[in-house]
Amino acid sequence: MSRPRRQKRAKVMAESRTVDRTSDRTTEQPRNEVDIFTLQALANETPDLISFGLGDPDSTTAPHIIEAAQRAIDEGRIGPAPSRGLPELRQAIANKLQRENNLIVDPDSEVVVTTGSQEGLFLLVQSLIDPGDEVLVPDPRYPAYDKAITLAGGKIVLVPTSEENDFALRAADIEAKLTERSKALLLITPSNPTAAVIPPDELQRIAELAIERDLIVISDEIYEYFLYEDARHVSIGSLPGMKERTITLNGLSKSHAMTGWRVGYIAAPAEFVAAVSSLKAMGNIHAPTVSQWAAVAALEGPQDAVNEMRANYARRRRLMMDGLKEMGFTFGSSKGAFYIWANISSTGMDAMQLCYHWLREAGVMVFPGSRFGERWKDYMRFTLLQPDDVILQALERMDNALASR
Ligand code: PLP
Repeated sequence: MSRPRRQKRAKVMAESRTVDRTSDRTTEQPRNEVDIFTLQALANETPDLISFGLGDPDSTTAPHIIEAAQRAIDEGRIGPAPSRGLPELRQAIANKLQRENNLIVDPDSEVVVTTGSQEGLFLLVQSLIDPGDEVLVPDPRYPAYDKAITLAGGKIVLVPTSEENDFALRAADIEAKLTERSKALLLITPSNPTAAVIPPDELQRIAELAIERDLIVISDEIYEYFLYEDARHVSIGSLPGMKERTITLNGLSKSHAMTGWRVGYIAAPAEFVAAVSSLKAMGNIHAPTVSQWAAVAALEGPQDAVNEMRANYARRRRLMMDGLKEMGFTFGSSKGAFYIWANISSTGMDAMQLCYHWLREAGVMVFPGSRFGERWKDYMRFTLLQPDDVILQALERMDNALASR
């Protein structure tokens, strides 16, 4: 990493004693307006609900992964682990990164296992960002990014994306937002919520810009396996000159349907991994040992369940896109993840109104775009996490509810 972290670590600890990080310094920052708990409470009371809300895979964890966890329990491999994670898991992660992502990392010094990638995101931002540092974030974005950055006293600088460009982040749009205080760029490809995949040539331009302007790149790759049509995943850390400035964030929640097991990881330069590990040691010390053994099996065992999930999502994506098109909605080409980010402005309602209308009249829950950024009132995020017949039933109910307004 090109900038010293030692000073930052000291600052993180000193400030946490004296400063209310949620104070007015952050009030001018962009907000995600939606109170998701109210919405979820209403959804919970809705009879016969079909939910396209939360992004948790509908598949169960593959049997060989569960068996590996059971074996670890039977054999008593349940004691404490190093804060960085079990050596066996760090090795499995390093192997995976080399095999699939063309990233060569030292499992001892350049990998840290986290308790889900959400914790990884939180720890890395707290380790990296000083008050006043600017972090460039694509808009719309996963809401946890905002919270992690503002809590560290960082400033979120939104980089717009648009339907015309399939919501993919572009180097020129990033460049237009750079200032003296720009410290890091957060990338997510494939994206939550837009399903955009940044094409390799654009990713190359972004990498060149990051090198030229000395930006650290945080690359959230949690949806890397879910790609459609001609989309292809490239890890930005594998591009020339990028390894020393890239923090790769990933986890097994989406790839292996392991949300509840809470295993994520960060691959980054040694100095940065050391900073994250020492912060982690102050919190929950290490990811659950049994889950880590399960993660070894997930990364090293058969990948049939992953392929099956990918095939399911690809089929459901077609069904969903066809149905939404028939309702008059438009979207970018949505080539990744398990979401469709649809423009619903043709209904004459904004997304929040339509969300409540569908909940009450159709018993269907879809997250409004404003959950992912305040300017996205004309968009909604549909997940692909229901079986085909349920998707078809929901599309019919949504269409009827639109017709009966
Ligand atoms: N990053 C993105 C973009 C996500 O969508 C999610 C979960 O929805 C996470 C990180 C956190 O995942 P987990 O903590 O389960 O690994």
